[in-house]
Amino acid sequence: VDAASPTVEILRELVAIDSTSRRANTPLADAVCNRLDRPGVAIERHATADGAKVNLLIRIGPAGPPGGGLVLCGHTDTVPADEPAWTSDPFRLTDGGDRWVARGACDMKGFLALAVALAGELAPQRLAAPLVLLLTHDEEVGCLGAQRFAATAGREAMLPRAVVIGEPTGLAVVRMHKGHLRLRLLLHGRAAHSGFPNRGRSAIFAAGHALAALDELAAQLAAERPAGHHHFPEVPYVTLNAGTVHGGTAVNVVPELCAVELGLRPLPGMAAPQLVERVRSALEAALPAGNWELEQVNLSPPLLTPDTAPLHRDLCRLTGQRGDRATSFASDGGVLSGLGLDCVLFGPGAIEVAHRPDEFVPKAELARAGELLADLAARYCREEAG
Ligand SMILES: [Zn+2]
Repeated sequence: VDAASPTVEILRELVAIDSTSRRANTPLADAVCNRLDRPGVAIERHATADGAKVNLLIRIGPAGPPGGGLVLCGHTDTVPADEPAWTSDPFRLTDGGDRWVARGACDMKGFLALAVALAGELAPQRLAAPLVLLLTHDEEVGCLGAQRFAATAGREAMLPRAVVIGEPTGLAVVRMHKGHLRLRLLLHGRAAHSGFPNRGRSAIFAAGHALAALDELAAQLAAERPAGHHHFPEVPYVTLNAGTVHGGTAVNVVPELCAVELGLRPLPGMAAPQLVERVRSALEAALPAGNWELEQVNLSPPLLTPDTAPLHRDLCRLTGQRGDRATSFASDGGVLSGLGLDCVLFGPGAIEVAHRPDEFVPKAELARAGELLADLAARYCREEAG
């Protein structure tokens, strides 16, 4: 992909728009719409109540046949670029020789640029089935846009069954990933002057008991091997992380409140409610009743697409991949597969360089991904000559 190609020009425009999850994604959505709006293209903007965030559903070509066609799905947000170690401006596409460097270059504006370029090249009136772009918001903070889309998608949003989620997989075809279950434990004490602890009850000492029990549960989970564990050779079990602890107001006050944020990563096919119950029973054994609550904050479900799904078979054939691939990070695919869609992760770049300073996408992978996506669209949307 040379510097003057449409894909690179689009990528340059997209990375210049700061779409960190804490900001509105409407400027990026506007840029995409401006490029694609033309006869034969249907654009739906599904905005949040405050209008700051939008899911974009863009259909190139005819609405039918039911389930036919292809979805290219990507998230519009990125993680922040606050790391001082950046050696170039993260919001300016930088030519690094064999790579393009920028925040979002691989996660996942490189894929977005490919999708927009492809959608811009296809002639809508020549397609037998639609190419659909589904661009979501707030994936990086818990797949919130995809969840909102799944919760509100009506009949008019009946999508093609084949969905490519353009996460950076180094062009591997990934049909499984772990989920991410977020819980919050709230511990209630009674405030008192620390000179009179007898008049209070420490929420932080209670949190200590809770954390010891959770540490034990994490070790139990690490010793288990749920179904499908062999797909995750490095970490073949459910992880439990105590990510943050917030509590107390001053060193001379018995703390009234402590909050602990927990994250668990279930394997494909595992149900979240059972995991919540295990956390709850570990806490019940460690804490007196009545002084604490456990709530579910968010669930990004795991992904398990059958290896017989046509999209998986076709992409494996196109890329020459044999066998199954899985990742340990969650994606919009887990949410969208709940709508009965066949979601497969496939995109240029490596997850290892995402979320890091000097994030990049290899030029060769970007170009190869473009060819493969064009092949896929030709197969699924059947552009006719003429
Ligand atoms: Zn991503």
